[in-house]
Amino acid sequence: GQSVMEMSHRSKVYEGIINSAEILLREVMNIPDNYKVLFLQGGATTQFAAIPMNLLKTGKADYALTGSFASKAYKEGQKFGDMHAAFSSKETNFDHVPTQDELDIRPDADYFYICANNTIYGTEYQYDPETPAGVELVADMSSNILSKPVDVSKYGVIYAGAQKNMGPAGVTIVIIRDDLVSEPLPGTPTMLRYDTHVDAKSLYNTPPAYGIYMCGKVFQWLKAQGGLEAMKERNVEKAQLLYDFLDQSALFKGTARKEDRSIMNVPFVTGSDELDAKFVAEAKKVGIESIKGHRSVGGMRASIYNAMPREGVEALVKFMGEFERENA
Ligand code: PMP
Repeated sequence: GQSVMEMSHRSKVYEGIINSAEILLREVMNIPDNYKVLFLQGGATTQFAAIPMNLLKTGKADYALTGSFASKAYKEGQKFGDMHAAFSSKETNFDHVPTQDELDIRPDADYFYICANNTIYGTEYQYDPETPAGVELVADMSSNILSKPVDVSKYGVIYAGAQKNMGPAGVTIVIIRDDLVSEPLPGTPTMLRYDTHVDAKSLYNTPPAYGIYMCGKVFQWLKAQGGLEAMKERNVEKAQLLYDFLDQSALFKGTARKEDRSIMNVPFVTGSDELDAKFVAEAKKVGIESIKGHRSVGGMRASIYNAMPREGVEALVKFMGEFERENA
């Protein structure tokens, strides 16, 4: 009769829960054995500081500025070292991510940082950037983790807040190659040191126990769905429904550059703030929630994470067609 919420995180039963969640994630993401998997707290935002505190050795790191979260991470990094923008799409309102050729990565940087999917702007890397030898690739995958397969071995660190594709908010996953778990910058708080959590197997203090349990259930579900190849196929299909509609629409327009379009977040506009507001209000009346774009960009955004069924996207496209006929 005891729920996971009330049980001791030091109990044998809980040890089984967290261990099996890790085993399942390793299996689903095909994580090589020389990577540690950590279940932490503090959201993705805490990693904006933990990354430089744990990875800086020469004091230099490079960032691709592709949206607000990458820019926030860059700004946080500046507290700890010499940070350089290897790319920025700020001038075009973050409507694209860099091609490999556009990257200006310093060969003596400790790491190169990307935000793999830009939640607000709806752009996503379609490739794993190459870095000069010795420069570790670090990625914030908060909004696209588990949406498609990823070659973990290309990355030094991958991290993600759980709340999009993994489980309830409150869990943050960090996947780090074991040789990168080393002495952090002096003064790094115990809770921000990766070695603390590696040594304690994510049980240094009370973990987000119930959230980790739920993540384990989601990993199990993903496996039953056919894993990340199957998820990718489904997600691409879902996104394509929306993008195909946008590309033929005379009223609605996608805001991200075509080659970089995200399969998780699809921002679009009508070109008129008034019509955008009308669309959001009328969509709500037919049960389409959370379609308003992020407050920093306006317009609309369809977030179509793993849990959104194809029927949800179909309903949206149908409603957009009706709205267009009535408002053209
Ligand atoms: N990075 C990305 C890509 C995000 O989408 C978000 C949140 N939506 C964050 C970082 C910040 O995450 P958190 O709120 O967990 O700190």
